[in-house]
Amino acid sequence: EHARTISLVTGGNRGIGREVCRQLAALGHTVLLTSRSPASAEAAARQLARDGSSVHPLQLDVRDPDSVGAAAREVAKDFGRLDMLVNNAAIMYDTWQRAPPPISPPSPRPPRPVSTAPGAPHRPSCLLRQSPHARIVNVSSEAASLAGLGGGTPAYTITKAGLNALTLMLAAELRGDRILVNAVCPGRVATDMGGPGGRPVPEGAAGIVWAATLPHDGPTGGFYRDGLPIPW
Ligand code: NDP
Repeated sequence: EHARTISLVTGGNRGIGREVCRQLAALGHTVLLTSRSPASAEAAARQLARDGSSVHPLQLDVRDPDSVGAAAREVAKDFGRLDMLVNNAAIMYDTWQRAPPPISPPSPRPPRPVSTAPGAPHRPSCLLRQSPHARIVNVSSEAASLAGLGGGTPAYTITKAGLNALTLMLAAELRGDRILVNAVCPGRVATDMGGPGGRPVPEGAAGIVWAATLPHDGPTGGFYRDGLPIPW
């Protein structure tokens, strides 16, 4: 029996990801706080240490396959497995801080936005298969719900809709490995991305931590906010 679970959070250097790292560490889990910038990962880990939480900083850029591969090798070397993957990193270029870019006519070279390349959460599944009861949490958004797609952030919502589809596919593919795969919307949260007026960061993070710490017989292939199912 493994005494401690090994968890990895992408985009852990700020916003919701950093708070997820803090909450998981407070629950006694071993936390790999990853960031595309090694300096940011280390700074965030130092900050959390000052507040009493111990996490391991690690470089991981979800858009860079070499970086993902290097991080996976590091985890394999140090821990041999991964019990929780929180796929949190994302960008929203059509953010509340700026007017959305024109959709038509399309720009010749559209910005390369879009959050977490939807393939990224697929790659570390070998490490997750080494865990007796692994969980994957894809941090998504209710804005991507097919029931109400819209809201002036097309690149962002389409990517999250793709991530939701990937959640269903991975859940089916990994069911035999007893890996629970769920998508979670944190609600609108007062981070750099969510802007002022969002809910407190710990509240948004709590629903993600809920999905990352589901019991072994917990749900898979679902879409949740605050631990409650929401429509795809
Ligand atoms: P922030 O903008 O505050 O933080 C985004 C994080 O993602 C940063 O750590 C950023 O790193 C990281 N990141 C971006 N690109 C990459 C990359 N290529 N590789 C690794 N890390 C990367 O966002 P939030 O904390 O608000 O959002 C966290 C998650 O929650 C996202 O998936 C978001 O879509 C989702 N969400 C947020 C909502 C909100 O209202 N805030 C609402 C619904 C969903 P860096 O510092 O280097 O830029």
